[in-house]
Amino acid sequence: MDPLKALADAERMPYWLDRPGAPEPSPRLTNDTTADLAVIGGGFSGLWTALMAKERDPSRDVVLLEGKSIGWAASGRNGGFCAASLTHGLLNGLARWPDELPTLERLGQENLDEIEATVERYGIRCSFERTGEMNVATEEWQLEGLREAERAARDLGSEPVYLDRDQVRAEVNSPTYLGALWERDAVAMVDPARLAWGLRDACLRMGVRVFEHTPARSVSDAGERLDIVTPHGTVRARRVALGTGVFPPLLRRLRHFLVPVYDYVLMTEPLPDHKLAEIGWRNRQGIGDSANQFHYYRLTDDNRILWGGYDAVYHNGGLIKDGYDQRDATFEKLARNFFTTFPQLDGVRFTHRWGGVIDTCSRFAAFYGTAYRSRLAYAVGYTGLGVGATRFGANVMLDLLGGESTERTRLRMVRTKPVPFPPEPARSGVIQLTRWSIARADAHEGRRNLWLRTLDAMGLGFDS
Ligand SMILES: Cc1cc2nc3c(=O)[nH]c(=O)nc-3n(C[C@H](O)[C@H](O)[C@H](O)COP(=O)(O)OP(=O)(O)OC[C@H]3O[C@@H](n4cnc5c(N)ncnc54)[C@H](O)[C@@H]3O)c2cc1C
Repeated sequence: MDPLKALADAERMPYWLDRPGAPEPSPRLTNDTTADLAVIGGGFSGLWTALMAKERDPSRDVVLLEGKSIGWAASGRNGGFCAASLTHGLLNGLARWPDELPTLERLGQENLDEIEATVERYGIRCSFERTGEMNVATEEWQLEGLREAERAARDLGSEPVYLDRDQVRAEVNSPTYLGALWERDAVAMVDPARLAWGLRDACLRMGVRVFEHTPARSVSDAGERLDIVTPHGTVRARRVALGTGVFPPLLRRLRHFLVPVYDYVLMTEPLPDHKLAEIGWRNRQGIGDSANQFHYYRLTDDNRILWGGYDAVYHNGGLIKDGYDQRDATFEKLARNFFTTFPQLDGVRFTHRWGGVIDTCSRFAAFYGTAYRSRLAYAVGYTGLGVGATRFGANVMLDLLGGESTERTRLRMVRTKPVPFPPEPARSGVIQLTRWSIARADAHEGRRNLWLRTLDAMGLGFDS
């Protein structure tokens, strides 16, 4: 079937948010109030912060303010790969924090274990499946990268499984696969919207006061406390945590470090058993391919395939607009690449297509800090790998607000910032040149041009 026909009836909205089970929204804030801790942002970052603040000290009065509804943004529309990595992958961690990497990997594994335990403890029904992730090579030049990742993982004590061409095709049958590296324990698949809704429920059960459709307009110093102004009431809080992701930050200084990058996703109809049998995929692992412009894909609990990635789009000027969530040129490219990977699925249709915006920073791993004499903390810049890492970042924010020196706050990764992006219009020029160079490298056996090598040497990059 023509890939465009397969797309013809796809709804233009995130599959995960278009399902039964969405909670009734919490009320807006309509009066002035006080709090020990005000958390701004109702994605994973804010939800984990509010929940763990209560778990650490149930007597603490915690307010959560969300500008729209819980989980509507990146947290409710992502691929649902919940990874242990805190560093946007092992090789990025190795390049930036080689000495700290063993600690970062251990803390990341512990973080994923604790996410699993939390899901269990609160009975969150988010189809959590710890099936790992398999990185596949679809070009010869990518095999060396897989071997490098295998060596790095083994040096750190984990035991990834290297699969040659026949072994990987026996696992998941695509004519494009040449080899793979499967990390069995380091990633879980989740239904992200249901995880967000479940965390909201857990927050409410712990006594967090949640206000939706309540955008925070400003934060200012009010002596002992900080004032957060919203359209119909002010919160006067002892401490503030910002989990606002890529959206215009309430702290101006963060603007230098974050750029909005759009990422796009398709979802198929549920595959009939005979179609799934043609592919295999019995171990249900998440899959990513190994080019710089990569696809990520996975099965859902009813055996649909979520298929996303490849294009990472920056709109000049750094604008965030609802209209950017749809991009037909990208959907068509994704659909074509899907059928190249799985020609056996000819005839399968897509039911949903959508996009979302990612908080990219130049080091690809979140950064952290405080303001207002350590009464406000932030954690942003997760760059496309925040489903799991936001929980770690939430713990960092709570440590910082408590004035505690912990293993987490002493990390160099936590104490340092990424290289800032230049201001516009230079920012657009630099990013578009980098995107062009990345696409060119993929087309030329991974060879990085002078521009990319210069950025590598400066520790700068662009990714999703
Ligand atoms: C298409 C796509 C696919 C992805 N796939 C994966 C994946 O498979 N695995 C992975 O690990 N990561 C993935 N990511 C990234 C992941 O979704 C994010 O890293 C993570 O959800 C970030 O959570 P967050 O809470 O920081 O941000 P968000 O989910 O963006 O939440 C921020 C919230 O803050 C609110 N807010 C902002 N400003 C204010 C304000 N002033 N007042 C009140 N509220 C405010 C917003 O309304 C929003 O709800 C993907 C992202 C996208 C877009």
